[in-house]
Amino acid sequence: MSDFGFSIQARHGLGRAGVIHTPHGEIRTPAFIAVGTKANVKAVLPESLAQLGAQAVLANAFHLYLQPGPAIVDAAGGLGAFMNWPGPTFTDSGGFQVMSLGAGFKKVIAMEASELDRDDKASARGRKRLSRVDEDGVDFRSPLDGSKHRFTPEVSMGVQHQLGADIMFAFDELTTLRNTREYQERSVERTQRWAQRCLDEHVRLTELRAGKPYQALFGVVQGAQYEDLRRQACQGLAATRSGEAGFDGYGIGGALEKHAIGEIVGWCAQELPEDKPRHLLGISEPEDIFTAVASGADTFDCVMPSRVARNAAIYTARGRYNVDTAGCRGVLEPLEDGCDCYTCQHYTKAYLHHLFKAREMLAATLATIHNERFTVRLVDNIRASLVDGTFEDFRDDFLVHYQRRS
Ligand SMILES: [Zn+2]
Repeated sequence: MSDFGFSIQARHGLGRAGVIHTPHGEIRTPAFIAVGTKANVKAVLPESLAQLGAQAVLANAFHLYLQPGPAIVDAAGGLGAFMNWPGPTFTDSGGFQVMSLGAGFKKVIAMEASELDRDDKASARGRKRLSRVDEDGVDFRSPLDGSKHRFTPEVSMGVQHQLGADIMFAFDELTTLRNTREYQERSVERTQRWAQRCLDEHVRLTELRAGKPYQALFGVVQGAQYEDLRRQACQGLAATRSGEAGFDGYGIGGALEKHAIGEIVGWCAQELPEDKPRHLLGISEPEDIFTAVASGADTFDCVMPSRVARNAAIYTARGRYNVDTAGCRGVLEPLEDGCDCYTCQHYTKAYLHHLFKAREMLAATLATIHNERFTVRLVDNIRASLVDGTFEDFRDDFLVHYQRRS
């Protein structure tokens, strides 16, 4: 039944290099998964994305549920066909976005109306809370038009099956670092109950939709910064079964402070089944990629390369700079010396500087292509270093030269 699998080719401590097999092709890991929230990577054609070496795209169930609606994506033949991306696709469950409406923080979340106390009712200043969590699911209002909706584990699974991505995530409750320890404990237990419901519904829908390409389901580990809760969450998910079926892989989610990424991913890698892939949900900077991989993450999504590109920030091996600043005016050199991307092969800093100053849309396209290629190439090199046993040398050499100048 399953065209999904994972094989490990090389190990280095908790880190490993491998291959994820999906019905839409292979993902060589460790892999950076490009973020295409609304079924597109902003400003770039799928052809450009393939050309720069991106292996897979991650879209968001919450956004596609609201717009255009999962039935349209299903009728189009699934997410990949709808967006003209022939390779593997991921969807995340919508939990993060739904619960971000809760407190209005950037990296937010969680609230149970009956249990609001102290820190647990914290919400960002001036933001109206748009969602409420209960045992069964989450009520929320659409940020688009204010209409009322409800996500439950079963609804999220139904939406994600219609979206048809190769890899889906179980619907989880997110918490913030400001939530109390007591709330985090209850939340981890609830997320485990939701994981079981997701797996049950996933098995039911897989049978119901027999004939469609197999969609893998990853359980999501929560537990914030607490070692015992993270380990407990991993053990619970690893043991979860629906009939014969278990999770195909695992997502590591929730509130992660930059300095704790390695520690938290490491706890999870020690507890989760060795033969299943692990995805770290949402990291930001190049230096975090080394930490995530060394600690056992096989894939990770990262919105930063494209997000900052639209604001003229350019990644290079010597750090980040802004191409719209005066120093780049009239400079007839590529964005980065030696870069093999389409933008650097054909355009100059002077041209990009001009496009950003003139507010031309092509600026975002060309800058995004460079930053996405930079990230893909970095992770390809990390993979090669794991295979040939030079990971630490490569990391140390990269980080010595890489300094953020933004
Ligand atoms: Zn380039």
